[in-house]
Amino acid sequence: MIELKQLTKRYGQGAKATEALSGLNLSIHKGEIFGVIGHSGAGKSTLIRCMNLLERPTSGEVWVGGVNLTGLSKQRLQNERRKIGMIFQHFNLLSSATVYDNIAFPLRLARKGKAEVEAKVNELIALVGLEAHCNKYPAQLSGGQKQRVGIARALASDPQVLLCDEATSALDPQTTDSILKLLLDINQKFNLTIVLITHEMHVIQSICDRVAVIHQGGIVEEGAVTDVFLKP
Ligand code: ADP
Ligand code: ADP
Repeated sequence: MIELKQLTKRYGQGAKATEALSGLNLSIHKGEIFGVIGHSGAGKSTLIRCMNLLERPTSGEVWVGGVNLTGLSKQRLQNERRKIGMIFQHFNLLSSATVYDNIAFPLRLARKGKAEVEAKVNELIALVGLEAHCNKYPAQLSGGQKQRVGIARALASDPQVLLCDEATSALDPQTTDSILKLLLDINQKFNLTIVLITHEMHVIQSICDRVAVIHQGGIVEEGAVTDVFLKP
């Protein structure tokens, strides 16, 4: 579902350049929950942002669903990006929009009709369990509720892939578990491929099928979670 080939990302120029990713290769299969773990500065955030070209790689290729995103025109990239949802550590919600309007945002952007928007938003609100909160603003929600809005918004365009950038790092342990459980439910219900980056081992161990360990811009270990973390 996702293939990264010889992915390199350099920030800055010349002597001051930082190489965040160094010829990284990675394959993520359809329907799996794939975790990427590494210390701060290892390149996790750059890696996940390259998967939807929020960050443009310096060289290498990013393939999602059989399409090479790095070769696309702006217009076609915009279309392909609808197949890739993303959620964030700090949620990135529109603060002046209600829960309903935050979730409706990508649908309205895609010029869906009023009835279709309403049906889809209500379905998503039920999926993430926010029926009682749909007219609230983000500031009136707990962290876990905000991330539920983030998840519903990310699912609005029926993506094939959900990218999670430290999505539980701002949450307490109990809320983290409830969000991970929701992600697992969604993975099973829709066979949605989920990529999750984190610095927390617990997150990887609780829901991931496979994991890659990233260090200094390269994958240093990769495999089933049980193989990578439970070696004798
Ligand atoms: P992680 O998410 O694992 O903490 P990052 O991908 O954020 O790692 O960073 C990897 C490296 O790239 C670090 O050395 C970081 O300082 C550098 N870096 C990240 N973003 C930028 C940027 N916008 N400009 C310059 N350097 C950056
Ligand atoms: P949690 O127990 O998950 O930390 P909170 O205590 O923050 O959640 O919130 C509990 C309930 O109160 C939630 O339904 C939330 O929507 C509501 N709520 C939280 N903060 C506010 C606020 N500032 N104004 C109105 N309602 C709020």
